[in-house]
Amino acid sequence: MENNTQSNSENIFDAHMHYTGKFLKKNETLLEFMDRFGIDKAIITTLKVSANQRLLLQTNEEIDEQKYAENLYAKEQYNHDIVRDLVLKNPDRLFGFYWFNPRIANESDWVILEKYITEYKFKGVKTQTSLDNLDLSKDLDRLAKFCIKFEIPLYFHSGVNFFFQEPFRTKYLFDFLKNYEELKFIIGHAAFTMEYMISLLRYFQTFPNVYFETSLSVPYGINVLIKMMGPNKVIYGSDSPAATTPDIEIQKIKSLNLTPEIEKLIFYENISKLIRI
Ligand SMILES: [Zn+2]
Repeated sequence: MENNTQSNSENIFDAHMHYTGKFLKKNETLLEFMDRFGIDKAIITTLKVSANQRLLLQTNEEIDEQKYAENLYAKEQYNHDIVRDLVLKNPDRLFGFYWFNPRIANESDWVILEKYITEYKFKGVKTQTSLDNLDLSKDLDRLAKFCIKFEIPLYFHSGVNFFFQEPFRTKYLFDFLKNYEELKFIIGHAAFTMEYMISLLRYFQTFPNVYFETSLSVPYGINVLIKMMGPNKVIYGSDSPAATTPDIEIQKIKSLNLTPEIEKLIFYENISKLIRI
């Protein structure tokens, strides 16, 4: 019990963490959590807990899905005070991504977003298209131009849409991204199913500006992404402490028996280069 800190010979830069989550031990700080899993640096964002709770229906009776959905969707931007304070206090280890909902954004929300990028030095923007009900054919354009202007990446959460939404197609992502060659774009949870990963291969092999983040992925899918998209396009992330612990996500990459050079790219160098650390 004297020392439960995992020592890692190489550095790990986790490209997808939240400031809090179920997998923190009681009274454990985020930095202590990172030390426990040998993580040197991390990109952190906020966490929308109340929406997640409201998603868990206590009944299987019929409901008015449209009403339910409207009730669920956020009416205002998510709070980033704690993320901002953590990032400002730990500028060598923590880097902020601002979770922005462009569908409901008013002009003052855009001003606040800009302040987080320019003044608090946040390194990117995250979107969550299912929880925030974004329409890729129109909701992301201004945000894409914003990210290009400030030379920061846009993170896209991948997933299957909810039961009350239209199904998501990877082609929508392609139709959006083909207009933004200068946009640095991170596709999160890139191999969360084999089918999705194969769809990404079909559309994005010739896109030099698209990166693939590994949290919650199938290990074999990560292997294929490295092989087909190239080791400089794949970025380790864990989605901890919200969704899991980092050791599980680290092991998925370790289990692939990559060369030390390629591991270094995926665990550290690709993301630090992308956000220019
Ligand atoms: Zn996440």
